[in-house]
Amino acid sequence: MRPYREAIVLAGGFGTRLAHVVPDVCKPMAPVAGRPFLRFIMDQLAAFGFDRVVVADGYRREQIEDFFGPAYRGMAIEYSPEDTPLFTGGAVKRALGRCKSDWVFVLNGDTWLDFDFAAMEAAACDAPDSVSAVIAVKRMRGFERYGTVDVDACGSLTAFHEKRPCEEGLINAGVYLLRRDALDDMPEKFSLESDYFECVVGDGALRAVECAGGFIDIGVPEDYELAQTMLAPLAKSWRLAMFDRDGTINVDTGHLHEPEKLELIPSTVDIMRGYSDDPDYKVVVVTNQAGIAKGLYTEADMRNLHRYMEDELEKLGVHVDAWYFCPHHPDYTGPCECRKPAPGMLLAAMRDFDANSTGCVMFGDKTSDEVAAKAACVAFEWAGEALSFDKHI
Ligand SMILES: [Mg+2]
Repeated sequence: MRPYREAIVLAGGFGTRLAHVVPDVCKPMAPVAGRPFLRFIMDQLAAFGFDRVVVADGYRREQIEDFFGPAYRGMAIEYSPEDTPLFTGGAVKRALGRCKSDWVFVLNGDTWLDFDFAAMEAAACDAPDSVSAVIAVKRMRGFERYGTVDVDACGSLTAFHEKRPCEEGLINAGVYLLRRDALDDMPEKFSLESDYFECVVGDGALRAVECAGGFIDIGVPEDYELAQTMLAPLAKSWRLAMFDRDGTINVDTGHLHEPEKLELIPSTVDIMRGYSDDPDYKVVVVTNQAGIAKGLYTEADMRNLHRYMEDELEKLGVHVDAWYFCPHHPDYTGPCECRKPAPGMLLAAMRDFDANSTGCVMFGDKTSDEVAAKAACVAFEWAGEALSFDKHI
């Protein structure tokens, strides 16, 4: 089963270099191909199955927090705001205090790097205890605005060099996989690059993974222009096939949270596979999980089950793109807008994937699923136990 994945996104910069191009907007929210730049990073994280993102924000943070709120494409989103500038290292150290995994990804909210998260995880997994960070590096030609790094034959990063005109070289691409306790001994304010990486580089503490994909730093006006065309193909509107979970995808055992009790319903898996293979569709799950409100299991238990379900469904040719859940119950947590029959989860999924109600469809086994679909103006189909037990049709 894949690990619980967490990322910190650094989004607190002032964006001085870009201010004359996009005034009044914090840099990570600068519009690119008609949407905030930070969405491209969030989409990349969601596609790779991240569970949680901590956004280290500050300057004009309300623009980020109003847009993404507490969840996006099934990932929990938290915010670690800085009131005074802590610099990159201080902001990361503070955000790490909210993380639980042994290793945490760190990304810059103003650069786009098309890279392989799994290759960095593999490098961290193989690394001895002395390694505190894996750094993505990128080979560039004919540049002068970046410093360069040296990497030895074993993949250890051995030196940093100042900016200078360079015909060809490896640059620090600004994506890191950091051991959670790496910065414990550092002060409250410091630069991650010059006060930490450049100080520990001689100790064999840094590994490098070279990535071949595209790299864009939108802090530079020319790159910001380039991003408009380079990222445009990723700014796509999707159709959604939305599935209820219990009784639809799996046999409803009542407050299912243990992987060993999972029993998939083959007829629904067949429907999911059809949408999973369709290049215009994303497959999402929208599930009421009142067991969390009732204290029967935790959100972590539920996410663990969903990671297991993801694996089981992948084996059957189904890729789930996002899991939406409602942890509430009116008797325990008061009213909410997400518990079906309310349409909140469906509307959130449609917002996150830029989906119009036309072309979206909801599959469920209960009247509450049908009512939610109608309220979200999407088509509805009975599935799972509703068909096998001839309950509703
Ligand atoms: Mg159900």
